Amino acid sequence: MKKYPDQHVHTEFSPDAEAYLEQYLVTAKELGLEYLMVTDHRDFGNPHPLFLDPIDYDHYFKVLKEQEEKHGMPIRIGVEIGYGAKYREEIEDFLNQYPFDFVIASIHNGEGKCFYSGDFFEGKGQHESYYEYFKLVLDMVQNFSNYDVIGHLDYITRYGPFDNKVYSFSDFQDIIDRILGIVIENNKGIELNTSGLRGELKTRFPKDGLLLRFKELGGKVITVGSDCHTNNDYLSGVSDGIKHLKSLGFTEVSAFNRRKREVIKI
Ligand SMILES: [Zn+2]
Ligand SMILES: [Zn+2]
Repeated sequence: MKKYPDQHVHTEFSPDAEAYLEQYLVTAKELGLEYLMVTDHRDFGNPHPLFLDPIDYDHYFKVLKEQEEKHGMPIRIGVEIGYGAKYREEIEDFLNQYPFDFVIASIHNGEGKCFYSGDFFEGKGQHESYYEYFKLVLDMVQNFSNYDVIGHLDYITRYGPFDNKVYSFSDFQDIIDRILGIVIENNKGIELNTSGLRGELKTRFPKDGLLLRFKELGGKVITVGSDCHTNNDYLSGVSDGIKHLKSLGFTEVSAFNRRKREVIKI
């Protein structure tokens, strides 16, 4: 297969990233990649102060086009939407306004309660917290379909004050089945996000139980991304992630161009 570009990449335009678009372009060119995919954050209703000041997208598209020309490296412009139920119409309007190549839909907080600061977990046990997270994802896929893949499904396990953060797939199978059923029925996908391998948990999101269930239910659409927030982490874990998918029985991965799916056999 030809080299598969990282499908989840944050640049200096993401408020929580220390990474530079130009450096990614240089690296992508050196590696002979066909394009650079960028998926900066646009979070709706994120309580974290960093996210109060979103990107000026008119400026963003202009800068990215200029950089694309300067480096002779095509840029596919994706976006990672931080979804909030209250903002659904605003999100639709936003996505209709710009010609994105790829849309990742992620749940980054619990209706305004921050995962990162721990607010979300206050007064909740582990099972209840994780269940609540999956409920938010379910609500998202039931009411919103203007996305290509769900971001880092099950990454709630990265947060929370629990000693053992590992969850058992079978404890959440009912709700996960409902999520995956809708995703598959709508011809949408999930991503294999390798960022967890660089953190405390040493795991990809989602875990294998969930990936295997996705396959069993007929799911095919999977993108692979590092979710890098620094240039050093670009492509980190991506080719191993593809090998891993192959070992689980997947035969293809996906990428998106102008919201159209490309299939890459593995
Ligand atoms: Zn995310
Ligand atoms: Zn991300």
